[in-house]
Amino acid sequence: MMLNDQDLYDQLLELDGRGYKAYKDIKGSYKFPEFTLIIDHVQGDPFAAPSKVIVKVPQAIARFPLSLYQSPSREIAFRDYLTRQFAEIAQKLSAYRGTGKSGLINIVAVKQEILPRTAIFVSDRQIEARFSLGLPARGRTILGRQAAQMLCEDIPKIVDHALKYGEIDPQTLQNHVETAEDADWLRQQLENKGLVAFIANGAMLPRRSGVDPRPLQNDAIPFQSPKSLEVEFNCPNSGIIRGMGITHGITLIVGGGYHGKSTLLRAIELGVYNHIPGDGREFVVTNPEAVKIRAEDGRSIAEVNISPFINQLPQGRSTQAFSTTNASGSTSQAANIIEALEAEAKMLLVDEDTAATNFMIRDRRMQQLIAKDKEPITPFIDKVRQLYTDYGVSTILVMGGSGDYFDVADTVIAMENFQPSDVTNQAKIIAQQHLNNRLTEGGDKFGLITPRIPLPESINPSRGKRAVNVKVRDVDEVAFGREDIDLGAVEQIVEAGQLRAIAAAIVYAKKKYLDRRRTLPEILDQVMADIINQGLDILTEFPQGDLVSFRRFELAAALNRLRSLKLISCTRTI
Ligand code: ADP
Ligand code: MG
Repeated sequence: MMLNDQDLYDQLLELDGRGYKAYKDIKGSYKFPEFTLIIDHVQGDPFAAPSKVIVKVPQAIARFPLSLYQSPSREIAFRDYLTRQFAEIAQKLSAYRGTGKSGLINIVAVKQEILPRTAIFVSDRQIEARFSLGLPARGRTILGRQAAQMLCEDIPKIVDHALKYGEIDPQTLQNHVETAEDADWLRQQLENKGLVAFIANGAMLPRRSGVDPRPLQNDAIPFQSPKSLEVEFNCPNSGIIRGMGITHGITLIVGGGYHGKSTLLRAIELGVYNHIPGDGREFVVTNPEAVKIRAEDGRSIAEVNISPFINQLPQGRSTQAFSTTNASGSTSQAANIIEALEAEAKMLLVDEDTAATNFMIRDRRMQQLIAKDKEPITPFIDKVRQLYTDYGVSTILVMGGSGDYFDVADTVIAMENFQPSDVTNQAKIIAQQHLNNRLTEGGDKFGLITPRIPLPESINPSRGKRAVNVKVRDVDEVAFGREDIDLGAVEQIVEAGQLRAIAAAIVYAKKKYLDRRRTLPEILDQVMADIINQGLDILTEFPQGDLVSFRRFELAAALNRLRSLKLISCTRTI
């Protein structure tokens, strides 16, 4: 017979005063009046990674209406909402109860985005919540009474307030799922309307600070589309929504410094994800295959064909399979673009603030002074149009510093006092009046994109006695085996849980798909298909509660930044 909550309570009181290792005895399942508690993993000491538990609440108790989770969009948003609700209640009940992590109750950390995560699941039968506990101790001595309180009193309170429909504000929850559903719907409509991004009128784009992604509270100026770029949608839940549509091709965002250019681009970058109601960017949606590109000097590059941008390096180094342990600004930006294309990105986003100047422009005077055979770089300005005509890849570019781009842009948007206006015609007239007399460089084709084959033996997640040792530090670094992967420049990773899932996906891909034949894009296809069909749990040996979904581009980005990675370039091309 399954033990019940009273058994657990008694057991914890008995453990009081014993050594920490004795906690191992509580592993197992317990029948509470309204749910089942599964203690899945028990930590070895109060400083170790906290213990993992699962709660399963039958729908007979939880009673969430089917309509809240019946479509994929709604289901993801529903789970997101419950995760936030759980976190809020757990935060209130979490208390310092001794040494190290004693007393902490944590569910996966979330920010402004609505994402599929492994913390909460819903079905017609039950709600499942996975979270972690710091089992209380003083030094290494078990505090049994505190543990009994946490497990047998606090957890039921959390279930009561976070996982039951009766206790949740139905309007707020309804709004959460409907907002996400509309955002998904809008994103799906983009293609039909020939758009790559949409920013709704009234959107609030600025953030509280560079480290605080919540909306700026005071003095934020709402977004308003210029009439010429305005498009209208009739959303399933919110009805008519108007805003600025950015069309396929090349879009330039210009304007004076501090007028909101980067803020707009950042919102577009994160428009690949849905946002929570109140974020201000709920209805800013972007083509899901858009990748932010930037310079990233110091990164490693392995066997990337950067020859569309860079040729004839000093000392005759090849650029068709270029490798370095310490890239320059321009070579790193070239590699970032080619790798994004290899991963099948359909749109690039570039901000002058984080781009290498010599990669972006080379004006007439410089062309005159430094002859082409002395300059390995073909600037982006000569390639951005070919990217669109040869590969259908659109670009949105923030560029306040060079009018040379007027020649290649389809649309020019000027930001002034945080408001956009359509200056395409003016820019075209100016381009005709003031010819820049640039010589186009780099030929009339973009050039070939050469997919690479990653070699399994070059990926090693082990360290010491552990076969897999990966640890994530926030959103920008993961310790992978004996190496640290630096993802500080991969700006579309928004949650640490994405990085945990990506690290797991690298291990998974190595085991399952790296066979010295499959190319990187083929491997990405396989891994992403497995996740779509079977969920993120497929990535790990045991179910985890802290994995967050990610895109193929960020998986590729992590792999590409693994310094040990070795690849061979494939003779087939994309
Ligand atoms: P730029 O890239 O044009 O130099 P930024 O996008 O970096 O400008 O914006 C400059 C500052 O203005 C930032 O602190 C940003 O948060 C703020 N800001 C941007 N958009 C708005 C807005 N709509 N309302 C109020 N402040 C804004
Ligand atoms: Mg800027």
